[in-house]
Formats: sequence, C-alpha cells, structure tokens
Amino acid sequence: MVSNDFPPLIELRGIRKRYGGGDKPEVEVLHGIDLDIRAGEFIAIVGTSGSGKSTLMHLLGCLDRPSSGSYRFAGEDVSTFGTDELAWLRREAFGFVFQGYHLIPTESARENVEVPAIYAGLSQDERMQRATNLLGRLGLSDKLNNRPNQLSGGQQQRVSIARALMNGGHIILADEPTGALDSRSGAEVMELLRELAGAGHTVILITHDRDVAAQAQRVVEIRDGRIVADNTIEIDRYQDEQEAFLHTRLSSLDIAQAREDSGTPFWQGLRETIRAAWRIMWIHRIRTSLTLLGIVIGVASVIVMLAIGEGTKQQVIDQMGSMGTTLMYLNSSVPSTGGPAGMITEEDLDEVARLPEINRVMPVIGSSILVRHQNVDKQIYVSASSYVMPMIYSWQVAQGRFFTEAEDRKLAPVVVLGYQAYRSIFPHLSDPVGQYLLIGTSPFEVIGVMAERGAESGSWNYDDMIIIPYRAGRARVYQAKEQPDFTVMEGVSMDQVQEAEDAVKALLLERHGREDVRIGNAAAKLKAQLETRDTMTRMLGLVAAVSLLVGGIGVMNVMLMTVRERTREIGIRMATGAREYDILSQFLIEAMLVTIVGGTVGVLLGLIIGALLIFWEIPVIFSFGVMIGAFSCAVITGLIFGYMPARTAARLDPVVALSSE
Ligand code: ADP
Ligand code: MG
Repeated sequence: MVSNDFPPLIELRGIRKRYGGGDKPEVEVLHGIDLDIRAGEFIAIVGTSGSGKSTLMHLLGCLDRPSSGSYRFAGEDVSTFGTDELAWLRREAFGFVFQGYHLIPTESARENVEVPAIYAGLSQDERMQRATNLLGRLGLSDKLNNRPNQLSGGQQQRVSIARALMNGGHIILADEPTGALDSRSGAEVMELLRELAGAGHTVILITHDRDVAAQAQRVVEIRDGRIVADNTIEIDRYQDEQEAFLHTRLSSLDIAQAREDSGTPFWQGLRETIRAAWRIMWIHRIRTSLTLLGIVIGVASVIVMLAIGEGTKQQVIDQMGSMGTTLMYLNSSVPSTGGPAGMITEEDLDEVARLPEINRVMPVIGSSILVRHQNVDKQIYVSASSYVMPMIYSWQVAQGRFFTEAEDRKLAPVVVLGYQAYRSIFPHLSDPVGQYLLIGTSPFEVIGVMAERGAESGSWNYDDMIIIPYRAGRARVYQAKEQPDFTVMEGVSMDQVQEAEDAVKALLLERHGREDVRIGNAAAKLKAQLETRDTMTRMLGLVAAVSLLVGGIGVMNVMLMTVRERTREIGIRMATGAREYDILSQFLIEAMLVTIVGGTVGVLLGLIIGALLIFWEIPVIFSFGVMIGAFSCAVITGLIFGYMPARTAARLDPVVALSSE
C-alpha cells in the first residue's frame, strides 16, 4: 500500500453530473461521487454498461466539468481553471487510452504519438526521438510510418498507450482499453498497464469486466451513478519502496505552471500545422482543387483584365502622343441648313488666335507639285504653313533655320526641306542652305533642313515634304486658293480641348452668322475611348471580385465540411492538450494554405494567359502590384471565410467532439 503522507492526487467530493436541461429532460447520471486517488495507485472503476463510468472518467480527465461538487487536483480546485488551464492539465498530467483507440486517421503511428508533444512545445527532433523510443518499447519499431488503418486493433491500442505516455503520462486514464480487442491483445494491453503502474504511473482503469478489474490494486464499483464498493486488493508488487520514487515523479508536475502556460512556440507550431494541413489538402486534392477554381479564376482574371486594360490604355496614349494631344483641325464646311461652304479668312484666324483657350494657330495649304532644281524635276508635297509649325509638331530644325513671322508677312520666297525631300533633291550635297528651288514657277531659297522624324502612324510622312511660308505660298504657288485647306489649332491644355473647340465654334458662328465650319479633335475622341475602356476595366474587375467572393464561399464550405468530418480528430487533439487557440490556428492555417495555393495557381494562370495574348499581339502590361494585390485578396478571403469554420472547431466541447462519429 502506498503511503498516506502525501495529499491525494485527485480528490472528488459530492460530484454530480446532469445531462439535458433546457428543452430536453434533465437526467442526473452521477449522484454525488466521493473519491480519493493517490499518486501511484492502480485503480479500476468497474460497473455495468450505463452506470456512469465514462462520464466519471471524462470528469477525472478534465474533458468535462461536473454539474456540482468539488474536484481538487494536487490540492488545486479545478473548477477555477479556464479552458486553456484545463488543456494544460490534460496535456501535462493525463494520458488517455480509449476503447476505440481514437487515433488521427491521416497521421502515421509516430505522428499520432507525437501529437501531445506538439502542444507541449517539444522540439521536432526530441519529439521524433521520444515517439520512436516509446513505440520501440511497445514493440512497434517496424510500424512507425503505418497509418492507423494499416494496424491491428492491438497495435492501435499500443500506439494510443504510447501517445498517453508521450508527455510523461503521470496519470493514465484508460476507458475500456481491452473492450474492442481479442483476448490475447487484451491480455497484452493489461500487461502493459500493469507494468506502467509498476513503474510508478497512476493508472485509472475503467471496465465493465470484473476479471479485468481484479488485476488492479484497488477496485471501485459504481452502480447507477453511485460508488457502491471500494476494495483494496493487496498485491505484493506494489511496495512501499516506491514512495520516494513517486514523489520525485510528481514533483516534476508543477500545477502552478498551468496558469502561466503559453503552449507551443508560435513558429514551431506553425511548421507542424502547415505540414498537417498540407497532408489533409493532398488527401482531399480533388475536392480542394474544385473549390479552388473560384479563387484561381478570380485571381487570374483580375490580373489579365487589368493587364489588358493597362495595355490598351497605353496604346491609346501612345497614339495621342504622336497626334498631339492638344491639337484641333478646323475646316470650312457646307452648313446643315444649306448654302455655300464657309470661308475662313485671315481675320478669322487672327481672332481665333486671340482666344484665351488657344495657344497657336497654323493655316495649311498643301499639295503635291513639281519642284525643279537645276534641270531635275520632282513631284513633292509642298506645304504652305506658318512659322509656328516646329512648335506645333515639336519638330526640330537640323540645319539652317525655320522662317520667321516677319518673313511670312513679307511674302519672302524661302523654303525649309524635310529630311527625305532634301536627300532626294540634293543627293550629293552636304549643305543645301543657299540653294534655289523652282516651286511651280517661282524661285525659293533653301534656308533650312528639318530633323528626321522617321516613319510615323498617320497618313503622311513629314520627312517627304517641303515647307514654305503661308502668305508666300498663297501669293506665289497656290494663287487659286482662297482659304487654308485646313487649320491646325493648338489648345492651351489637354483637359480643355473641348472648351477650346466650343469657344472657336462660338466665335466663328458669331462672325459668319451660321455654322459653316467643322472642327476635328483627335484628343477628345481618344479621351472618350479611354473612358469607355476604364469603365470596361472596372466592370471586368467587378466580375473578378465576384468570382473571388464565390471562391471564398467555396473555401468556407470546404472548411465547414472538413470540420464536420474531423470533429473526432479535434476531440482527440483537445484530449491530448490542444488549446482553443491551437485548434483555431490549425483550421485557419488550413484555409489560408488552400487559398495561398489557389492564389499562386491563379497568378501563374494569369501570366500564361497574358503570354498567349502577347503572342496574339493583344497589348498587355502586367503590373506586379496587381499580382500582389490579387494574391493578397485571395489569402485574406481564405482568412475571412476560414475564420467561422475554424472558430466552430475551436469552440467544440472535447467530450462531444470525441464521441462524434
Ligand atoms: P458507461 O460508460 O458506464 O457505460 P456512461 O457514463 O457512458 O456509462 O453513461 C451513463 C449514463 O449517462 C447513460 O445512461 C447514458 O445514456 C447517459 N449519458 C451519457 N452521456 C450523455 C449525454 N451527453 N447526454 C445525455 N445522457 C448521457
Ligand atoms: Mg463507457
């Protein structure tokens, strides 16, 4: 018999347990249990089915709380413990062995044994070492990597005993451990429990079988929720010499630690959680990938839509750049009310130039005519235009100079050459300035050569033409023309092009008394085009956001399903010491892992589709920011939609979770 010098390890007084209440009828299962259990005892609780044994064991093991009565553990009142402190107690003090083994089906034997140590924060190496040793001692060295369904009942029960011993197993709580086993395996398990008791573990064995109970040192009989007998059987094996040994063993369990326990270090727990989550995802890979479709499509479409939007926008902006974003083109036209076409006079243009919305005005007359140098004739486009042309077209003079306003007013016969025109008229001359050209019938002096502009989108090539002053052109070359072919007007700013156009229209309407001019405005058209593109992009973005949302709901659905399927696993994890936080983070990380994979696949798919579009010459511009954004959206979606199922899991009652099928 163990000495009575130490206080009882477990002290139950007047413990009652009622089920039901509320809308269900209330039943009292335990009617006031008084029980002391001392450290190192090997005690059997025996009773018929339905007598309340399992209920008592759940209370003893802190899986459940009594309806009334007091439970002192090592002198501490357990009813004052919070859920995390109870988790600590289960993890550090108890080791459970169940009739149905309760192993996690997706984890190997070794990993199952390691579970309690994960929550105790043991390092991975120590954990593996210890689990391997324990399984070796129980004769399972060659089954380390077997899943529970690859083990016999007896082997599974030995794995669960190893798990009970993982964190020390001060108190082994075994509920019908032999109930599901054949007699030989049952005898082996009983032998193991006897050995553990002999080694100083406190063993509480619950059974309906009197022969099994008789192997314990003390037998407590329970009937209809009451203790009806408590016999101590003297067996030689349990001797007083163990007392000192027991004392040492129990002193390592410092109950005060329960209050300041912080559980698993975050990063260490994270690695383990990710590994387990990855395995679950792999096992359910078809289901997971179907769920992920929403996320993948959402992320990929956000990336592709915005890349196309950005690409076409850039294309339009490039076009605008080459056309000049502030330029408008003025023509006379036949008014819609009938009558002759309008006549735009020089006075009209002077007035237009005075408008505050207009920067510069440049009338143009041009056509392809014969130009002669010495005795060579060439057909060349001759543009009669004003001195502002280099400014309006942002076009530099390469050699010599452009003509001035004064020269224009004086009808000076001077000409500036486009680069290609210069090359074709003077193929061998390095400096054509000072040479004369016969344009139509009048001689013009070359005063400059323009810089080469290169091929550009648009109807004409600037490099092929030559430019003469507008008034000289009217007087000497284009005598038949009464007004410019067209007039280029430069607005003050791109944003006010429309206002400038309206101002010019109003001015000319006032001067002519009717609407007989037309103004073309490339910028406004392009701007409108850009705006419709923007709206399109926004709408497509909305579609993408909706598919992300659908993806999120899919994730939530799959997580709810997985929580329901794995309720028992959650119970097992709680019984081995997981806190609410551990369960919450496990399921949150699972949800996030799913969406991280979905987001990554989505980004890759987006890039592939983009590459195909580039191949088909559709302009796309990828944005790194968009990729990061879409990916983060996916992960945040996982977090948000995973939270509810994860919290559901964390809030489960350990006993309810354990007994679920
Ligand atoms: P044993 O393990 O001795 O077979 P239990 O402790 O499992 O018995 O159950 C004792 C009694 O309590 C049984 O009558 C059972 O129906 C009842 N009981 C157990 N759990 C619940 C519960 N969650 N709700 C209602 N009744 C319960
Ligand atoms: Mg039972």
